[in-house]
Amino acid sequence: MSDTICAISTSLGVGAISIVRLSGKDAISIANKLFEGKDLEKAKTHTIHYGYIVYNKEKIDEVLVSVMKGPKTFTREDIVEINCHGGIATTNKVLELLLLNGARMAEPGEFTKRAFLNGRINLMEAEAVMDLINGKTEEARKIAIQELNGKGSKLISLLREDLVKIISNIEVNIDYPEYNDIYEVTIKDIKEKIDYFNEKLSTIVSEYENGKILKEGINTVIVGRPNVGKSSILNKLLNDNKAIVTDIPGTTRDIVEGSISFGGIQLNIIDTAGIRETSDVVEKIGVEKSLSKIDEADLVLIILNNNEELTKEVKELLKELKNKNYIIIVNKTDLETKLDLSRIDINKDNIINMSIINNKGIDELKEKISELFNISDITSTDPTYLNNARSISILNKCLNKVEEVEEAVKNNMPIDMIELDIKSIWEELGTINGSTYEEELLDEMFKRFCLGK
Ligand code: GDP
Repeated sequence: MSDTICAISTSLGVGAISIVRLSGKDAISIANKLFEGKDLEKAKTHTIHYGYIVYNKEKIDEVLVSVMKGPKTFTREDIVEINCHGGIATTNKVLELLLLNGARMAEPGEFTKRAFLNGRINLMEAEAVMDLINGKTEEARKIAIQELNGKGSKLISLLREDLVKIISNIEVNIDYPEYNDIYEVTIKDIKEKIDYFNEKLSTIVSEYENGKILKEGINTVIVGRPNVGKSSILNKLLNDNKAIVTDIPGTTRDIVEGSISFGGIQLNIIDTAGIRETSDVVEKIGVEKSLSKIDEADLVLIILNNNEELTKEVKELLKELKNKNYIIIVNKTDLETKLDLSRIDINKDNIINMSIINNKGIDELKEKISELFNISDITSTDPTYLNNARSISILNKCLNKVEEVEEAVKNNMPIDMIELDIKSIWEELGTINGSTYEEELLDEMFKRFCLGK
């Protein structure tokens, strides 16, 4: 970090102004070598100076130069920003001259990385910087600015403090093992505190899930054998809700067949392999591929034909649904029953009987979806939840570990082992805001930043 970095911070193209930014101990002296105007080395911090960038006595551009001395800067280092006339040739020339005079080209996100390494911002705030730049919606902007102001980091710090309290509680016990009653108190106390901690963590994760649903809708896949009635059900759902059926791109791999809005939530029906054309998702793309589609979806609607026995493939598919939100629709209940689900290990509450040609079962289906996703709760969710996929995946990991601790407490495991587990959760949580971090994580993260930020 001892070298001075530079990059073009504005987007490269024709515009009124471009900013070339320098950060590091030689930022001011490097800029000064090229600047004709005030002696920048003598400039006060946070001042702007008019002049020219000059090289070999040739005027390159008329500029305004900002001088900001560390530590009150974004990177906590000396920063110089050169406002030149926007235009690819001019901006590139200024950059080239800075490189010639001792600066090094910054890597993507390197300014923000320095801000983090120098303690100006934490990792969550660094990510918020990127979210703020990349945010496309008003809601995304709101969430990012809250995060940048430390809302999420505060949440994580509080969670870690809770754990420190539990750990110190345990240490008392380890320090005074001769007092049996302390042990009793401690174990009871730990149990209460860790249960409470679990509740808090789960709430944050579910708020995120709710927020995601509110923002993006429920990604739904429909699977079933040919002729079970997939298209009929889909059409019914879409027509009833006057949805616009277009090629709205869903994820990069899938096409959203249509979106249904109900209760303020969007249900995005994802066409896994052309529900309409092939009519045979399970067999055409194979069980394995169906499963991977199912894995990515928030909701799986499995359509079965009441008038048909279960096939081997469908049985296999049903076995894999345990941890998913699924609804089994038994269609064609107007026909003779040949389907037998009694010996299949599925949640029987999630079966809806339907006869789409008789208009039966659609309302029950909608109710079931509302119930599965607590739609009335979701619509009242605070829109400023923690919204960072990396943070949430770490929180989920922590949640699993918390459950292990609960189990260990229940089974009266040695208290020093429990302490180790709690410490590892504390450490894991620290990776969210960067209190503890590994170099690789930083590289991976800042690589995704844009150049010049
Ligand atoms: P897909 O291949 O799974 O998309 O199935 P379709 O929606 O194309 O339906 C296949 C056939 O089953 C069509 O002739 C439908 O009219 C018929 N069908 C769909 N739903 C019902 C139902 O509830 N009862 C009866 N008797 N026939 C149905």
